[in-house]
Amino acid sequence: MARNSCPAVGIDLGTTYSVIARLDASGRPQTIPNAEGDILTPSVVQFTEGGVVVGKAALEAMPRDMANVAESPKRELGQRVYPKPLGGRRYPPEVLEAFVLAKLRADAAPHIGPVEHAVITVPAYFDEVRRKATIDAGYMAGIDVWDIVNEPTAAAIAFGFREGFLRPDGTAVETQHIVIYDLGGGTFDVTVMRIKGRQFEVLATDGDMRLGGRDWDQRLVDYVAEEFIRTYGVDPREDPNTFGLLLRECEAAKRRLSQQEETHIVFEYEGCPNRTHVTRRLLEDLTSDLLERTAFTAQQAVEAAGLTWQAIDRVLLIGGATRMPAVPRMLQKLCGRPPDQTVSPEEAVAQGAALHAGLLQARHAGRVPPFEVRNVNAHSLAVVGLEPKTRQRRTAVLIPRNTPLPASARRLFRTSKANQRSIRVEIVEGESPSPADCILVGKCTVPNLPPNLPAQTPIDVAFDYAENGTLSVRVQVAGTNVHLEHQLVRPNSLTPEQLDQWRQFIAESLR
Ligand code: ADP
Ligand code: MG
Repeated sequence: MARNSCPAVGIDLGTTYSVIARLDASGRPQTIPNAEGDILTPSVVQFTEGGVVVGKAALEAMPRDMANVAESPKRELGQRVYPKPLGGRRYPPEVLEAFVLAKLRADAAPHIGPVEHAVITVPAYFDEVRRKATIDAGYMAGIDVWDIVNEPTAAAIAFGFREGFLRPDGTAVETQHIVIYDLGGGTFDVTVMRIKGRQFEVLATDGDMRLGGRDWDQRLVDYVAEEFIRTYGVDPREDPNTFGLLLRECEAAKRRLSQQEETHIVFEYEGCPNRTHVTRRLLEDLTSDLLERTAFTAQQAVEAAGLTWQAIDRVLLIGGATRMPAVPRMLQKLCGRPPDQTVSPEEAVAQGAALHAGLLQARHAGRVPPFEVRNVNAHSLAVVGLEPKTRQRRTAVLIPRNTPLPASARRLFRTSKANQRSIRVEIVEGESPSPADCILVGKCTVPNLPPNLPAQTPIDVAFDYAENGTLSVRVQVAGTNVHLEHQLVRPNSLTPEQLDQWRQFIAESLR
């Protein structure tokens, strides 16, 4: 195991931007710039005749070549394929994520040598399926994924490092309750943590997988497009390239409005020039419901942690979209004190992931790890069964949400008929009693049951939910030696053979 030949590396595989960081010789996290010299690499992939382009160049190609550009593939993880074909071909979203990782990896090589392994972060709210897809993306990019860590936890670790909690005398620091509010480009996460010296404990986590800065951009796009329609009678959103251009212009305008009170959005469509005046106030009015949604979710997370805002010592702002002045203003109102803006909202997650990689390295080398992390699961984990009375499909929760990890649970099920020759266990994640409203994690079938089992034979289903939120399942049929392990068939997951084919394809495409 080549655990020590490359430094501890952490990767924030973001919806809009990705960041890679490492620990230097003295154990301090450092962000590594990409080949363009930037800290942030746009998570955008373009398929051209000449090959695959990742990052800024792909982002800049959006107004010309939107049809062949994949933006925010992270939002699609868990789906079988990305919603549109790219360069005439369909790609699973984790393959697109792998291209982003492969670029980060290649660009880091001149600084630290070949990146063999890394810790990759995911939103705390990611379900099991998306976590597994992220690990697969790492594999396809040629990276041995040591662990996946929740983004807010990583941010809290970076914060704790900066505050000196991780120094040997850090244990003397008083217990702090912190809220990590992470509003990125495509996802929103809020997590409540307790930091007790060098112990980082997640108390509750919540979020919205389809809410981020991109939604703010979309509101501006719609506003501008509607004005354009009023003037010229045509909708500029109908042309994909103009839509791509508009998105980019509106995103830039949104950023400017974090600094200044007003700006203009300028573009042209079908020879018709347009110049729309927008103010910060207007942007805030157009998006107040979005901000309100984040406030509501934050409130719920604090309650789920058994706390009130009075008990919160700090609110950490993570994610580029927290640079909008409306965000700290709203949080100050909720919490009664200004949020902490001392950690870099874009770099904290990758740096915390690098610190976590350092922890794993220390543990592996038999040294005392510099800190400890306790996580919780973001969704209830359940199996699907038939309710005896109604014969309706119902979920039976094995591990309720916000349970400290690792967690194990088991439950007895019974065969429904005599002489049943196989059983199928369906595992879902979610809070609804109806399986249709939950996410299917996977199914496993236990074939070849011994003949002549009576109806109602007990079947023992055990779940092991690891610290990083991945799951293994064991099924044991009572009175037989039939048991099954790790045989979860995930509906949209790539097979090991497919993973290897893509891994080769990615290595060749970026050469
Ligand atoms: P992710 O983790 O989702 O990849 P980031 O944390 O990098 O995303 O945040 C990206 C989002 O932050 C984008 O929607 C971007 O427009 C927004 N953003 C970045 N800087 C600013 C700014 N100064 N003002 C407003 N929004 C910003
Ligand atoms: Mg992020």
